Amino acid sequence: MSATDGASEPKQAEPIDREALRARYRAERDKRLRSDGNAQYIEPTGRFAHFLDDPYVERVEREPLFDEVTVAIIGGGFAGLCTGARLKQAGIDDVRIIEGGGDVGGAWYWNRYPGAMCDTAAMIYLPLLEETGHMPSQKYTFAPEIFEHARRIATTFGLYDNALFSTEVKGLVLDETTSRWIIRTDRGDEIRARFVTMGPGPLHRPKLPGIPGIETFGGHCFHTSRWDYAYTGGDPAGAPLERLADKRVGIIGTGATAVQCIQPLARDALELYVFQRTPSSIDVRNNHSIEPDWFAELEPGWQQKWLINFATLQTGGFADEDLVKDGWTDIAQRIRDRVVAEMSVEGATLGPETIARAFEDSDDEKMTEIRARVDAIVNDRAAAEALKPWYRQLCKRPCFHDEYLQSYNEPGAHLVDTGGKGVERIDEKGVWVAGVHYPLDCLIFASGFEVGTDYGRRAGFDAVGRGGQTLSERWSDGMQSLHGIHVHGFPNLFVVGPSQGANLISNITHNLTEAGATIASVLAHALESGAAEVEVSTAAEQAWVQMLEGNTQSFLGNPDCTPGYYNNEGGPIGRRERLNSSGYPMGPVAYFQYIDGWRKSGKFEGLEFRGGETNGDTAS
Ligand code: NDP
Repeated sequence: MSATDGASEPKQAEPIDREALRARYRAERDKRLRSDGNAQYIEPTGRFAHFLDDPYVERVEREPLFDEVTVAIIGGGFAGLCTGARLKQAGIDDVRIIEGGGDVGGAWYWNRYPGAMCDTAAMIYLPLLEETGHMPSQKYTFAPEIFEHARRIATTFGLYDNALFSTEVKGLVLDETTSRWIIRTDRGDEIRARFVTMGPGPLHRPKLPGIPGIETFGGHCFHTSRWDYAYTGGDPAGAPLERLADKRVGIIGTGATAVQCIQPLARDALELYVFQRTPSSIDVRNNHSIEPDWFAELEPGWQQKWLINFATLQTGGFADEDLVKDGWTDIAQRIRDRVVAEMSVEGATLGPETIARAFEDSDDEKMTEIRARVDAIVNDRAAAEALKPWYRQLCKRPCFHDEYLQSYNEPGAHLVDTGGKGVERIDEKGVWVAGVHYPLDCLIFASGFEVGTDYGRRAGFDAVGRGGQTLSERWSDGMQSLHGIHVHGFPNLFVVGPSQGANLISNITHNLTEAGATIASVLAHALESGAAEVEVSTAAEQAWVQMLEGNTQSFLGNPDCTPGYYNNEGGPIGRRERLNSSGYPMGPVAYFQYIDGWRKSGKFEGLEFRGGETNGDTAS
């Protein structure tokens, strides 16, 4: 890493007219509001059913399994891998990953589109770097390296042993008489598990825009999460998409995925039409390689130090230095510096208003820079205007990229801005926007993933707990848990994800390694004490949820925000939506400290360990 990593560009000198900006933000948001919210999206069924198939491996037939494991891990993405690694570290060996894809990796198994990478710095995003001895090649690593790292974790911790791939869980039911979970799969398996961890992730089930006529398109089409290299040519490592040289290609969507794959498409396709509803905010990325000599000098424990340093700065805390130095820490530090400046005025008091003002001023400044960057890069004035994001930075997933905006300077690249309305309709030959027809050979859906729908629909199965209650029913008014992990009525089941825990959205894997450590400590205790069941008490769950509900800091539902999956597609934000995306009120760093203490105390406060284990299972 070098000292020149900073993500920001020179500040705008001109004063910002806050009122005019707010009015513009509201007007842009209003253009995009629609009454159908999440219902505007459709599942890939019918002619699109194959969008869910696995194009990367041959499905090999096998005999169904009827056996028992100590721990079943549903989902082999980073959630499952981090949990599996922590379990193995705790001496719990009898674990089995069950995964629908042909290998581990989760989102990084499925997403192999050209240009795919993670714009959270690899030094903190790639989990368990010290444990696996891997040095990231660059500050931001491309998808193939991330997928390889997932495989490295599985190899290092022996998680391939006993794993089942190309196997989709279809049912998960608690057998109350034996305190076992019964897992049924699409392979006819019936596996009994003493404990189950679930990390299906929010971004693995593709969704499609319910545009009139979508099913009539006669050209080639695919979703970005199942990139069709046989059609486009090229490969995930970045080879040119040479088969597009004589093709007119359209892409629907300009979210984080499209931002990464549009540059190779603009470079290689005969013509590229980008159908935009809302532009993403594109900040500087500044990628560079990591020097082996510098990396070798890092002291043991460095990754934990980096993780806490990033989480601290990104959430407005203080640290002597900014180790990661990226767009995430940049915005947070601007806010913090403004608060400090305001507080240095005599008689100033620190209240929510000071923080809100610092937040808004920094955001306005940052977004003004981001819009100025569009002007500086994009040659065509009309395209530049349309590419400017008019909303606060965290309304949508911020993007960081150094080639995306330049794509629109390619001769064959055309931005078709839909003025916030989206594509009007699709017919056999192409796409209609504002009465203009765009004939296409190929249409790519960069339309995202199911995030806001019921748990059962997203995961492809629903857990059935005590008394036959499903998790979707239990959470119909919003997620209820202790630490985002333990759910009353679902003993021996553990959920792995950021919500209701640290909820550190800027670095998802940090949440996962911590959740894995928590689950491993609970399971080790259950196995040592021979408990048949571990379950959160009603009182502890309620107290945790009440504490989360007391948090008024949520950015969700900010009235200036343009619709998207961060804010229920502009629909009402009620208790359910707030709970589903809530986090520890004192912030992620405080949560990590809290949960470390909770684990180390050995008391496992809030959990009940019940009954004697008679089957003789141990932490083998
Ligand atoms: P998104 O849901 O973020 O984007 C979907 C896109 O499709 C949006 O631009 C949306 O417009 C557009 N769209 C939907 N319907 C229509 C329509 N009818 N007409 C025109 N456009 C339409 O999905 P992504 O796959 O881009 O990203 C999902 C998430 O994956 C990201 O938010 C991020 O968390 C993660 N990701 C992370 C990366 C990383 O570097 N770490 C890289 C890639 C993805 P609108 O905005 O108006 O709704």
